[in-house]
Amino acid sequence: MKIHALRTGTVSVKHGFLFPRHGARRQLDLFLPGAFSEPLPIHCWAIEHDGVLRLVDTGETAAARNVPFAHMHVSQDQELPAAMAAAGLKLDDVSEVVLTHGHGDHIDGLVHVHSRVLVNETELRFLATPMARVMRRVLRQPLPAGFAPEPFALHGAFGAFARSRALSDDGRIVAVDTPGHTPGHISVICVDDAGHHVMLAGDATDSLEQLHSLRADAVAPDIKVHVATMKTILAHCAQHPTVYLPSHDPESAARFAAQTTVNVDPTTDRRHSAAALLTT
Ligand SMILES: [Zn+2]
Repeated sequence: MKIHALRTGTVSVKHGFLFPRHGARRQLDLFLPGAFSEPLPIHCWAIEHDGVLRLVDTGETAAARNVPFAHMHVSQDQELPAAMAAAGLKLDDVSEVVLTHGHGDHIDGLVHVHSRVLVNETELRFLATPMARVMRRVLRQPLPAGFAPEPFALHGAFGAFARSRALSDDGRIVAVDTPGHTPGHISVICVDDAGHHVMLAGDATDSLEQLHSLRADAVAPDIKVHVATMKTILAHCAQHPTVYLPSHDPESAARFAAQTTVNVDPTTDRRHSAAALLTT
């Protein structure tokens, strides 16, 4: 199995997004003036396994508009085709795309893809709700042209996760239920050749520090659901050595390169990542 970290530009997000306040200000701060973070990566991932090339998410495109709490920095030469070429991969060889969730910085790159696209049925239903439609219109974040992924259901347990779905025939690439950031958010766990669980976590959290802090993000529809998911992820990390890779964690690429697994005693990880996230 070979996993490739791809990067399609960066995004700066409001501090109120990364470190939300409690109560009404949690979501209000997203729309009020505020400081922005340094540019954070927009990762997506390619997995070569058993002769099949899969993508987890497709990244952002230059056409993306900024929203009040996120500024995109993506040029055309940073979009998915270039990100794949940089990894020595060809888009035409992709046979399957799995989406972690339905936000633009994860799905807009679908305009470049012609393969089958899979999404959790719960997420697809959420994307069709009046609330989700209104938000896309207000924030001017339309779904990419031709967006028609195939929904899949989650069934049995995998590690600490109650619901999962094997993506590869041998069960070494598995979608797991990580609701919170969005109601149907999934992460993809790859059991690599060393037996590590490489968790392609999408926006389950923005960083490892947020995971250890059990801090719900500012857009999660239900804080309790989000926190419960973080506890489940930590429980999984305690059972299996897990390399935890959120899409926007500035330390994901280094953790991936060094195959650094989550230290379930969080003191060290937390201090380190908080320093990396805090910005000028
Ligand atoms: Zn994202």
